[in-house]
Amino acid sequence: MTIKNNQSEIIRKDQQFVWHPYSSLTDPIPAYEVVSAEGVYIQLADGKHLIDGMSSWWCAIHGYNHPILNAAAKDQIDRMSHVMFGGITHAPAVSLCEKLVDITPQGLNKVFLSDSGSVSVEVAIKMAFQYWISQGQPEKNKLLSLKGGYHGDTFAAMSVTDPVNGMHHIFDQVLPQHYFAPKPEIGFNQAWNNTDIAEFKAILATNHQQIAAVILEPIVQGAGGMNFYSPEYLKQVRKLCTQYNVLLIADEIATGFGRTGKLFACEWAGICPDIMCLGKSLTGGYMTLAATLCNNEVSRGICDGEAGCFMHGPTFMGNPLACSVANASIDLLLSQDWYANIDRIESVLQQHIQAFSDLDTVAETRVLGAIGVIEMKDPVNLAEIQRQFVEQGIWVRPFGKLVYVMPPFVITNPDLELLMKGIYKILSM
Ligand SMILES: *Cc1c(COP(=O)(O)O)cnc(C)c1O
Repeated sequence: MTIKNNQSEIIRKDQQFVWHPYSSLTDPIPAYEVVSAEGVYIQLADGKHLIDGMSSWWCAIHGYNHPILNAAAKDQIDRMSHVMFGGITHAPAVSLCEKLVDITPQGLNKVFLSDSGSVSVEVAIKMAFQYWISQGQPEKNKLLSLKGGYHGDTFAAMSVTDPVNGMHHIFDQVLPQHYFAPKPEIGFNQAWNNTDIAEFKAILATNHQQIAAVILEPIVQGAGGMNFYSPEYLKQVRKLCTQYNVLLIADEIATGFGRTGKLFACEWAGICPDIMCLGKSLTGGYMTLAATLCNNEVSRGICDGEAGCFMHGPTFMGNPLACSVANASIDLLLSQDWYANIDRIESVLQQHIQAFSDLDTVAETRVLGAIGVIEMKDPVNLAEIQRQFVEQGIWVRPFGKLVYVMPPFVITNPDLELLMKGIYKILSM
C-alpha cells in the first residue's frame, strides 16, 4: 500500500514539475513510472514488466543493465568521471575516436565529440559553414535537406528538419531558411527511376553557389516519418554533391551501429559523406554522447582559415565515462555475429508484419534490418494506444500514423513474437 502511494506521488509531482518530450504541462498525459530495466524488459513501479520495442529511441541496442557496459562504467568512474578536454586528453576518448575512424566509411578521418545528437548536427553544420568561409566563399551559407527528415530539436538542426513536422510556420521569424527537396518516394527495394531525384537535382543545379552542404539521413528517414528509400538515391546525391562542389553531411544518429543491417546506412550505397553525425546507440543507450566525423579536406580547410581552428568546444566534450561505455558498446557489438543477428530479427519481423497488411486500418508495412513499421491510414490516439500496449505487456510508442518497433538487438525470437502479437491484438481490435 505504501509503495502504491509513493507511485502516485511520483506521478503527481511529475505532472506538477516535469517537462517530458513534446508534452503539455497544462493537459499532461500521465507517464509510466519505471523502477529498473534488464535485458529487453522495462520494470514498472506497479510490478508489471514490459517487452521493450523501442530500445529507448534506438539507443539500447544491447538491452538494459548489461554486465559488460556496467563494468566499463564502474571501472571508469573509479578513475575519473570527467575532466576538461581543452589541453587535456585521455585514453577513453582517443581509443573511441580511433575506433570510429576505423569502422566508418573510409575517408572520414577526424572526430569531434559532443554531448547529444542535436549538438553533433550543429557541429556538422558549423563545420560546413566554416569550411566555406575559410575557402573565401562565405556566400555558401545555405543548406539543402529533404522533406520528411529529422535532425534534432536545436535551432540549426530544426531548420533542416521537415518544415511541417518541425512546425516551421510557428518559428518563421527565428529559423534560418534553407532549401528542401521532396521526400524520396522510391522505396528501399523498389525499381529505381531518375524522376525521384529530379527536383533535388534541379535545386542543386540552380542554387549550388549558395549551398554549403546537403544534409540527410541515409536510407532511413527516422523520426520524420520512418521512410526507407532507395540506395540509388543516396548514390546520386553523392555524385551531385561532388559535381556541384557541395559538402555532404550524413546524419547516421539513428541508423548507425547496425540498425539497418549495415554497420552504417551509407554502406547500402557504398558512399562516403564529407561529414557524418553519430549518436543514440553510440554508448549502447547508457549515456548521452555524440560524434561528428569529417574528412581531411574539411578539417584542413577549416584550420587553414582566418580563425585557425574550429570554433566549437562543449564543456563536457569527450566525457571519459561516456567514451568508456561507448568503447565497450562498440567492442561488444563487433565481437558478435551482429550481421546474422540483425538478419534474424529482420526475418521474424517480416513474418509477423505480413498479417498487419490485411487490416483495413493499415496503409502499408515495411521492414528493414531491425526496424519494423506499420503505417496506419489515420493517426493513432497516443495516450489510448499506449495504455493498451502496456496492458499487453509491451512498450511501443507510436507517432502520428506510425506504429513501429526497433527492439534491442538482444531480443529473443519468442519475445519478438510476443511484441508483434501484442501490437496485432490492439491494432486488430
Ligand atoms: C534523434 C536524432 C537526432 C537528435 O539527437 P538528440 O540526441 O535527440 O539530440 C538527430 N538526427 C537523427 C537522425 C535522430 O534520429
